[in-house]
Amino acid sequence: MSVTRQILLALVLGIITGLALNAGTHALPAGSVAWLDANLLTPVGKVFLRLLQFVVVPMVFGALILSLTNRDAGADVGRFAGRLLIGYVLTSAVALALGMLVAQWLAPGTGTESLVSQAPEGRNADSLSQWLVGLVPNNPFAALGGGGLLQVIFAAALIGIAMRALPQESEPLHRLIESGYRVSLKVLEFVLKLAPLGVFALITSVIATQGLDLLMRLGMYVLGLTLALALMALLYLLLLGLVGARPLDFVRHFGQSLGFAFGTASSGATLPLALGNARSYGMNDSLASFALPFGTALKRDGAAVLQGFNALFVAQLFNVDITTSLVITVFTTGLLVSFSTAGVPGAGLVAMTTVLGAAGLPLEGVAVVAGVDRFTDGLRTALNVMGNCANAALLARLDGRAGRSTAAELAQESPAA
Ligand code: ASP
Repeated sequence: MSVTRQILLALVLGIITGLALNAGTHALPAGSVAWLDANLLTPVGKVFLRLLQFVVVPMVFGALILSLTNRDAGADVGRFAGRLLIGYVLTSAVALALGMLVAQWLAPGTGTESLVSQAPEGRNADSLSQWLVGLVPNNPFAALGGGGLLQVIFAAALIGIAMRALPQESEPLHRLIESGYRVSLKVLEFVLKLAPLGVFALITSVIATQGLDLLMRLGMYVLGLTLALALMALLYLLLLGLVGARPLDFVRHFGQSLGFAFGTASSGATLPLALGNARSYGMNDSLASFALPFGTALKRDGAAVLQGFNALFVAQLFNVDITTSLVITVFTTGLLVSFSTAGVPGAGLVAMTTVLGAAGLPLEGVAVVAGVDRFTDGLRTALNVMGNCANAALLARLDGRAGRSTAAELAQESPAA
């Protein structure tokens, strides 16, 4: 059975087991069966996520340096970054607007029984200049040891460019990095053998701990958000079709990453898989090794849809007038917040407090939707990963130099293909 099928099967089995475990923990008095605990499989899921994170930094660092030092490529990183950023902002703006339009149209917040309790603590967003300064690492080892993906990209770019300027002197370092990169790929191969088990454990614990009743109570919210996310995904397929990037091919090759993103709710953990899928899709290596980590650090269409949709939902729930200035505030803060949402489970929920706060909306809204967040998180993350990979695929098509150099791309262009 292919890995994609195994992951899908794990999702389905996880839902069934989660439901059974949830029913079991409710039906029997607490403690009557020692092992019966909604969190029974949570440690297994956590271990799996940690193992995936284990390979992210060496893979991103190695792949980017190797592509920068590759003689035929690597000079284009600056150009890629500029074009990708334009694509990111444009598509995220559409995603945000789509979330708001669907919320306005379906009005899921009107008539919803209020489930107000306590809002989680908000995290103050960094100012833009603080954020920019923070991108520049002051210690390459600290950058690799926990400085975040953008710091890793920055360090790799700087070191890669210097190595390019000193081809002979940097040869031993190049060999070391190449060998480290190959070892990380092997470790990833081992970890991925556990993917079905990891996804199964993650989904089981979500369903077992949350149950489905809350999902029913906030049904319109979940449905509306799902619809907005699906519309954005369709739009990407349409865009890919328009530039001749074969949307079905895209889905076939990246489907594994999308299913995985849904199961793990972490774009960061999905990155190693997405890099592998990009290779089989035929994306130029030097583009993929820069664009996918860059997008994993920044690009979150799912979070953009969420912030737009959620803010209007909360306004409807608390009978707040939806004025033009509210719409503008939600749009601008939602866009900024989407770019700084981390690629880990639940990050979008934390970021909500910033958007609601800026728009003067009640923060209790976060508590209302917190219970269903893990359900929509998987879908959001799948769109985050899709938007990231699709932006890279679009650039590969639109930019002759980004798309031309791989054999697979040339094979696709040939009339026989
Ligand atoms: N879980 C999402 C991700 O990893 C972020 C979010 O919460 O929207 O991309």
